[in-house]
Amino acid sequence: MLRIHTLASGSSGNCALIEAGVGLDRVVVCLDSGIAQRTARGFAEAAGLSITSVDAVLLTHRHSDHSANIVPTASRASAPLYAHADSLGTNQRTSMAEITRRNVEVRNFEDRGFFKIGPLLITPIKLPHDAEPTFGFVFETATAKAGFFTDLGRPEILMEPGLLDGMETLVLESNHDVDMLAKGPYPRALRQRVGGDLGHLANSQTFEILASSAPKSLKRLVLAHLSLKNNTKELALETAHAALKQRGLADVLVQIAPARGHLPLDAVQV
Ligand SMILES: [Zn+2]
Ligand SMILES: [Zn+2]
Repeated sequence: MLRIHTLASGSSGNCALIEAGVGLDRVVVCLDSGIAQRTARGFAEAAGLSITSVDAVLLTHRHSDHSANIVPTASRASAPLYAHADSLGTNQRTSMAEITRRNVEVRNFEDRGFFKIGPLLITPIKLPHDAEPTFGFVFETATAKAGFFTDLGRPEILMEPGLLDGMETLVLESNHDVDMLAKGPYPRALRQRVGGDLGHLANSQTFEILASSAPKSLKRLVLAHLSLKNNTKELALETAHAALKQRGLADVLVQIAPARGHLPLDAVQV
């Protein structure tokens, strides 16, 4: 069993729970913690889960919409914090002093260096983004496989042959529409950052990934980290549906991860 619950997604905060295994083998992993702890706790409860008893906490990158509450979340749950060494210590909230004060055990990972948490095999995949380093993850159990990739400025890494193969569930960024970003309210420097090679995926780049590399095994696609100002759910959905149709995968269920609130995702069991 492998189930992903998104609790928050986007530049105002990110948090997801990954549930894997059954019975005594079951583990729950918290992926990023960029929203208020009380809010995360409530959303987790709505999913029938407890964020204060997760087995591990995992960090994609240092940006505060992902890392703001990562140390207190790990501390409250008495869970180890899995992060790349360079993602921690860059601000007060993830400083070594804070990690020590809150008695959090850090376990470092490296690009493509897989590790296990109970029955869950996790492989970090380094992504091009302006917090060096930034990671997406491949999650696998004996019976299911899923991918979680947000905060990347270029699509090529996810078009690597075989990388997405076998996944039933894919959480993928579809951040902005290129025209809306160009004409939108952001100041020029921010527009350039978001739209740049180390920014966020445009709908059209998400299209490229899906049209070229969406695996035949795919059952469910979740579009994530949508911009509230430079995108619409309709545009993101329309673009993803068009890509999947082109790929011969018109039956895939496509959903949007809400900016706030629980979306449960079942990776189909095989
Ligand atoms: Zn982000
Ligand atoms: Zn980021």
